[in-house]
Amino acid sequence: YGEFNQRIDYVFKVVLIGDSAVGKSQLLARFARNEFSVDSKATIGVEFQTRTLNIDDKTIKAQIWDTAGQERYRAVTSAYYRGAVGAMLVYDITKRQTFDHVARWLDELRGHADRNIVIMLIGNKSDLGSLRAVPIEDAKEFAQRENLFFMETSALEATNVEGAFVTVLTEIYQITS
Ligand code: GDP
Ligand code: MG
Repeated sequence: YGEFNQRIDYVFKVVLIGDSAVGKSQLLARFARNEFSVDSKATIGVEFQTRTLNIDDKTIKAQIWDTAGQERYRAVTSAYYRGAVGAMLVYDITKRQTFDHVARWLDELRGHADRNIVIMLIGNKSDLGSLRAVPIEDAKEFAQRENLFFMETSALEATNVEGAFVTVLTEIYQITS
């Protein structure tokens, strides 16, 4: 992961959004530190975590912002979105309501963020397939219609988490460079 004394070519701010308890903080923990905790509490005080990675011979520092529980009160502020070049819009594949709210999150995001922001729709908790409440086709259709990237992930099993972040960061890099 991040190395000491490394030359950084780009810093990209990416925000995590979506309903409470869909797994945003665990996706971040998995991507930034390769960790997962079953009993995750709302992160207090920590605004973002970083991970440095290489894309196309460039050193990219990804600065990933987490809502730290503010989504419960719909209090995600415009400061949160400011300067973001990427967004991970997360729902829980076992909770239909969290998918039904995705359109609302997208409106909020598009109202606050840069118009070129790269957005990945994420259906998290793919390890809980037997409890699935959101058909993958519904999400694919929505993503296609709204011009979003889409992946199902499991922060628990580390499925597609790397892929989702790297896809967004690579797209941002290609737009930026
Ligand atoms: P947040 O409120 O969106 O930040 O959600 P958290 O990351 O705090 O996760 C909410 C709950 O879902 C916690 O109990 C996590 O352990 C659990 N969780 C998160 N990701 C996954 C996953 O991929 N699979 C399963 N089975 N549980 C998950
Ligand atoms: Mg959280």
